[in-house]
Amino acid sequence: MQGLGSLENKTVIVTGSAQGIGAALVGKIISLGGRAVAVDLNGDKLRETMSPYGDRVLSLAGDVADPDFVAESVEKAVSHFGAVHGLCNNAGITRTAMIEKMSLDQWNQVLNVHLTGAFLWTKAVGIHMIERFKAGDKTPGAIVNHSSVAGLKGSIGQINYSAAKSGQLGMTMATAREFARYGIRCNTVCFGVIETPMTETIRGDKFRDGMLAGIPLGRWAQPDEVTPMICFLLSDDAGYITGQYIAIDGGVHISV
Ligand code: NAD
Repeated sequence: MQGLGSLENKTVIVTGSAQGIGAALVGKIISLGGRAVAVDLNGDKLRETMSPYGDRVLSLAGDVADPDFVAESVEKAVSHFGAVHGLCNNAGITRTAMIEKMSLDQWNQVLNVHLTGAFLWTKAVGIHMIERFKAGDKTPGAIVNHSSVAGLKGSIGQINYSAAKSGQLGMTMATAREFARYGIRCNTVCFGVIETPMTETIRGDKFRDGMLAGIPLGRWAQPDEVTPMICFLLSDDAGYITGQYIAIDGGVHISV
């Protein structure tokens, strides 16, 4: 499929794609002519979610923060589809507690998935893209890190998640600076409140009104409203954009 944001013949790894934003993103990538490597801890759910896409998707079940799983997955993706042109570090968890009640385990779990996981995939996919650059492909790929307005403003009860999501902004800038010499771009998207299983509690009766009051556009978004920007950043049409972040949040980052 040609046109703005085309992903024709591109293969993109999307972590955390059994549900929510990752699942919607795989659908969008396919609709733009691409193929996806879908990764998730929940193998049964992943296979069920990906079943409509047939051989356009390779599903791999495992933990994004397991170094052996990451290395094997990138190898499998390359041997299955020939190359990997995009990576979306999307897998995420929350472990919510006020600072004085947060356990070290809750802190470590969240940093492990969002930061260690994103680092391992960036490294493994980066090595593959650098090899392709050295073999003559001057635009071997793009990486998008899925952060949050929590990483821009902080979030009450989420010191672990806020730190991890701010950390992804630093990772993006470091990756963009290191990999620019190989033609590899790296950007961040910062979501506000998107209607997925992750946000069920904050969209529920107890928090709903307060959450909506902080969103200038006055509503949360559907996953399909955030995927076009991610695909654009992955595409060659964004060829001069790197080290950038864009909030897809209905204006939350400018609300008081
Ligand atoms: P979700 O909970 O609906 O889906 C996350 C997926 O990641 C799940 O399928 C889960 O199984 C998978 N996952 C979790 N830990 C994993 C691991 N260790 N290894 C492999 N897979 C793992 O979440 P979502 O709302 O779709 O969020 C996607 C991303 O966007 C996350 O990084 C999240 O922090 C970020 N985000 C979401 C929102 C929102 O409003 N939904 C807002 C800001 C940021």
